[in-house]
Amino acid sequence: MKIIDGIYQLLTPFPQFTIEDARMLRKQLQEHPRVTKGLPYVLPYLIKDGGDTVLVDCGWNTDSAYSALEQGMGEHGSHPSEINKLVITHVHPDHYGMAGRLKQISSCELVLHEKDAEVITARYFAPKGLMDDMAAFMESNGVPPMDSPNMSRGSMGMIGMVAAVPPDTEVKGGETFKVGDFDFEIIWTPGHSPGHICLYEPNRKILLTGDHILPTITPNVSINTQNHGNPLGAYIRSLRLLIDLDVDVVLPAHEFEISDLKKRINEIEVHHEERLEEMLNCVDDGGSNGWDVAGRVKWATGSLADFEPHMQRAAVGETLAHLEYLWERGQLAKVMRGKHLSWMKV
Ligand SMILES: [Zn+2]
Ligand SMILES: [Zn+2]
Repeated sequence: MKIIDGIYQLLTPFPQFTIEDARMLRKQLQEHPRVTKGLPYVLPYLIKDGGDTVLVDCGWNTDSAYSALEQGMGEHGSHPSEINKLVITHVHPDHYGMAGRLKQISSCELVLHEKDAEVITARYFAPKGLMDDMAAFMESNGVPPMDSPNMSRGSMGMIGMVAAVPPDTEVKGGETFKVGDFDFEIIWTPGHSPGHICLYEPNRKILLTGDHILPTITPNVSINTQNHGNPLGAYIRSLRLLIDLDVDVVLPAHEFEISDLKKRINEIEVHHEERLEEMLNCVDDGGSNGWDVAGRVKWATGSLADFEPHMQRAAVGETLAHLEYLWERGQLAKVMRGKHLSWMKV
């Protein structure tokens, strides 16, 4: 789909969806936004101007995602072999999965933030260590030991659908690059992942938001073995970085275009404030661990006990991100009891 001359929105399906179903869902979602279980597609952007062909994000490394990309590029007179530069907003498999395949086809320059480049090895090349760390991490946050091995393996099925490859260029944020007449600025927006980036074109007032800002859903912001510190604090600061940008067109990597950036940022901030209050109310006077709190709060997609293991892990990680933020604001204290972490109201 043409956004403006030179910028085109493509669509690649998630592994469990056909290209046709994903395209149909794209249409339906824009007409009737609603919460869906699982994402049906990712939206890569083709930027083609003055002989340059740049792709922002790609998709899972499946044959159907590749065909969708090939078809989509074909509709705009281009082919994956022509890509000079592949910019990845963050290293999650739905955005980065096909990177290795595209590099082989096109010898393109792969661009990624250094903080996300750091986790490629642990995440995709040597995941055994990550699984062990994750099991220990989950146990220390009260996840019942019986569930831990299942949970830590929850995301391992995805590894086969990622052609992992190290970046050619690592960025920090603040860099600019040209695509024909377009001047893009890289903005570091950590939170959803430590090295998430957005791309801003100030002359055409276009912002590509990756997973950082989506029109109806909020990205998972989690503490886990690869996202330490206070990711929710980082996420909220990253939202503030974008609120005053002069933009006409806001292009996310899922769902559909965002019509009012400021309004959407305000909605997301309100959502997290409400969530913080809800989580605080779920902490017992005698202290609670992450698993307890995750089991008490409301999830849009059902109750924690019914989630698939990898979704339980994501829910616990998201809960911990909120608890950590409350701790930083002085509303909670952390207590270690042996290997187990508890949170107490102050
Ligand atoms: Zn993501
Ligand atoms: Zn995504």
